[in-house]
Amino acid sequence: MTLLIEGGQVLRPDLSVEHADVLVDRKSGTIEAVGDPAELDAADESLDASGGLVMPGLVNAHTHVAMTLLRGYADDKPLDAWLSEDIWPVEANIESEDVRAGAELGILEMIRSGTTTFSDMYFHVPEIAAAVEESGIRAVLGHTAITVGKDEDAARADVEESLEVARDLDGAAAGRITTTFQPHSLTTVGTEYLEEFVPRAREHDLPIHFHANETRDEVDPIVEERGVRPLEYAREAGLLEPGDFVAHGVHVDESEIDLLAETGAGVVHCPASNMKLASGMAPVQRMLDAGVTVGLGTDGAASNNDLDVFDEVRDAAMIGKLAADDASAVPASSAVGLATAGSADVLGLDAGRIEPGAAADLIVVDLDAAHLTPAPDDRVVSHLAYAARGSDVRHTVCDGRVLMRDREVVTMDAPAVRRRAADHAEALVERSA
Ligand SMILES: [Zn+2]
Repeated sequence: MTLLIEGGQVLRPDLSVEHADVLVDRKSGTIEAVGDPAELDAADESLDASGGLVMPGLVNAHTHVAMTLLRGYADDKPLDAWLSEDIWPVEANIESEDVRAGAELGILEMIRSGTTTFSDMYFHVPEIAAAVEESGIRAVLGHTAITVGKDEDAARADVEESLEVARDLDGAAAGRITTTFQPHSLTTVGTEYLEEFVPRAREHDLPIHFHANETRDEVDPIVEERGVRPLEYAREAGLLEPGDFVAHGVHVDESEIDLLAETGAGVVHCPASNMKLASGMAPVQRMLDAGVTVGLGTDGAASNNDLDVFDEVRDAAMIGKLAADDASAVPASSAVGLATAGSADVLGLDAGRIEPGAAADLIVVDLDAAHLTPAPDDRVVSHLAYAARGSDVRHTVCDGRVLMRDREVVTMDAPAVRRRAADHAEALVERSA
């Protein structure tokens, strides 16, 4: 039960590039060896990596995968108006079959563009889990709870569901699914619910995933009402333990960056969404300098508008320089690191690195393309950050299993997935009119 990825170059954990083969143990789903072809055991399955680069599968650490149905539905508005006028009214009509169709579309797009793990926040989560199970991708799932604007019973039921879903689905899909408890954000979940439910999540060792410091409009009311910065409030409410992570972290001050570094909680940077909604520029280089664990996410497709993490890598490098007013900030190596080891570390996964013992979640990127030429070894990381795109991915492997071979996703019926998603999207918008 072994898979040999042969004839290519390999991106090592220190981001150097060398010619090597990669031997995968398909049974355990881990990398067995990296090295000279002559020294590796024969395998019973192989993938041709010649002319390509074997690198860790990209990890999309914050998304709302089923929002692919709302791709292009509402653009060019700030976060609060976009959510309240466009997204939430439609999401109120979303049914479980819609979530299934949207999740399948998002997963198809991610496997195509080299993502092997995604961390999701949504509802009707068992449908997303079923799509994960069938497609072979890895995921960190959860039900996102909102209490504002709800009566006591409905609010409590929503938070209870977040806890239950996280407990029920942890370890599903042969261990490829892990879970998080998910209060939606610090302004959409009441303090009393955090006080009650966070300790219960800790009893079950559940990491906590929530949105924080995304826009100024979200930060200011907390500062005015409580006299403390949002992440300080989060800490007081029992959040920010090691393993927890916040999506966005755009408007964080020095004290909050220090708090993230001290607690070991992670941040998922979502540069495209932050630019599109004009939310602001996260101080990524300052966070990295302070020792914060930072990963990368696309956020939902409706605010991106695709799930191609290669785009996100480039955006992170670009906006990181603007935010720091320094062209040397968030260099290519850091940007690539965010989407691989960085995101895997945020999610607590032994992945994101091509090394023996790590999860066999890897991709082969075709370097044989005009926009990636010339490609001597010392320019490959630059190309990954600034010139490569998701369509350059030739093969995708997750948990030791081939999900895409020669640009064909073998675990999903791509035309049927696209057709079903388009039908569900159309019906959903009609129902919401
Ligand atoms: Zn989000």
